[in-house]
Amino acid sequence: MNSYDGERMSELLESQGMKAVEDAASADLVVLNTCHIREKAAEKVYSQIGRLRRPDGSSPMIALAGCVAQAEGAEVLARTKMVDIVVGPQAYHHLPELIKKAASGKVVDIDMPLESKFDALPERRQVGASAFLTVQEGCDKFCTYCVVPYTRGAEVSRPWSRIVKEAHALVDKGAREITLLGQNVNAWTGEDEVGRNQGLDGLIRALAKIDGLERIRYTTSHPNDMTEGLIEAHGEIDKLMPFLHLPVQSGSNRILKAMNRAHTAESYLTLMYRLKEVRPDIALSGDFIVGFPGESEEDFQATLDLISEVGYSLAFSFAYSPRPGTPAADMDNQIDPEISRERLQRLQALLNQQQFDFNQQTIGRKATVLIERKGKKADQMIGKSPWLQSVIIEAPVAIGDLVEVTLTDAGPNSVKGQWLNQKQLATA
Ligand code: SAH
Ligand code: SF4
Repeated sequence: MNSYDGERMSELLESQGMKAVEDAASADLVVLNTCHIREKAAEKVYSQIGRLRRPDGSSPMIALAGCVAQAEGAEVLARTKMVDIVVGPQAYHHLPELIKKAASGKVVDIDMPLESKFDALPERRQVGASAFLTVQEGCDKFCTYCVVPYTRGAEVSRPWSRIVKEAHALVDKGAREITLLGQNVNAWTGEDEVGRNQGLDGLIRALAKIDGLERIRYTTSHPNDMTEGLIEAHGEIDKLMPFLHLPVQSGSNRILKAMNRAHTAESYLTLMYRLKEVRPDIALSGDFIVGFPGESEEDFQATLDLISEVGYSLAFSFAYSPRPGTPAADMDNQIDPEISRERLQRLQALLNQQQFDFNQQTIGRKATVLIERKGKKADQMIGKSPWLQSVIIEAPVAIGDLVEVTLTDAGPNSVKGQWLNQKQLATA
C-alpha cells in the first residue's frame, strides 16, 4: 500500500508542476514514505534522513509521510531538525498546501479527515503492466501486536463507483493486471450501481468485465473475512489469479488467542482446504510472527506443523517486534530476541524449502506470463506466472505482453520459461 500511496503522492506533486529527479540530493523536495509495522522499518527512516544532508550542510525540503509520521507526529520534529513536513497516510492529499506553509515554518498534519483523500487526488497517469488499486483502508481488528488500527485508522471501504472508475483509468493507462489493496481487503463492502450490497467477490466480478483487464489479484486478506462467496469466486472467475495471500501468524491456538486473531489454526486450515477444493491449482501464501510474548517451543512447533500441513508457495515471516502503544508490548512474558531469531531461522528454512518445492512442482506446466520488466541480461524479460512466480524469459517479448511459456527450470525465487510463440515471431 505504501507503494500505491507513493505513486499517488508523486502524481499529485506532478500535477502541481513538479518533476521527479533521479538523485535525492539535487531535489528541492524529498518525500519519505514510511512504515511503522516493525521497529526496524520505523528506525531506518532516521538514518535515511541524515543521508539527505548535502556536503555544504544544507538539505532539500523534507516531508516525512506515512505511518511513522502518523505515530510520532510532532515528536519527529523534536528528533530531527531536518524534517519540514510531517504528514500522515490519510492526509497526504494536503501536500501542496503543506509545502506552501513549510516555506515559513514546520508543519504537522496527522488528521484523519472525514473527506476521502482519494477524492482530492488527480487522475492516474501512465502505469506499468501490473498496477495497484487501494479499495479498502484501515483496520478494526486490533490484533494485540499491530499498529495498523492506530496508524491507518478505522476500516473504510472506498465506494464501488470510484473503484470501477479508477480501474478503467488504470487499464486505459496501460495496466493489464490490477491488484486490489487493503489492510483487510476482503472486508471490503459497498453498494453497486443499482444499490445492492456487495462484498469483494461482487466487486471482482464487476472488474472482471473490463475489456483489456486480464488479471485480478487482491491483498491482504484476513481469515475471518474469507466468505464462501469469495472462495467460490476463485473457482469461477477466470481473471482472478490462482493465488491467495492469507496470513495466519501462528499455528498455536493459545498464541492466536493472545494475539486477538479471533480464528483458530483449524478454522484457517478449513479455509485453505476449501480453497484448494474450488481451485485445485491455487498457490497459497501467508504471514508468520515468531516469538510473540509467551510463545513456547510447543507453540512454535504448532506453527511449523501448520506450515507443513498447508504447503506454501510464498510467505513472509517476522520476529515479533514490540510496538509502542499496542497491548502485546506490555505483556510481561516477552521472548528473548535470541530465541526468536533462532526460531525465525528454522521457520524460514521450512518456508524457503516449500517455495523451492512449489517452483519445482510447476516445472513442465504451460503458463501465461505477464511481462513486467527487463531482466539483468540484455535479452531477458521478467514477468509473473498466474501463481505469482517471477518467470525469466529469453525472447523478444515486450512489457505488457501476455505470453505462453512452458516452465523449465526452478530456482528458489524464480523459474525460467520457454516461450511457445515462435510461430508468431516468424510471421511478424
Ligand atoms: N492485515 C494483514 C496484515 C497487516 S501487517 C493481516 O491481518 O494479516 C503485515 C504483517 O506484518 C502481518 O501479517 C504480520 O505478520 C506482520 N506484523 C505486524 N505487526 C507486527 C509486529 N509487531 N511484529 C512483527 N510482525 C508484525
Ligand atoms: Fe494488524 Fe492485520 Fe490484525 Fe488489522 S488484522 S490489527 S492490520 S495484523
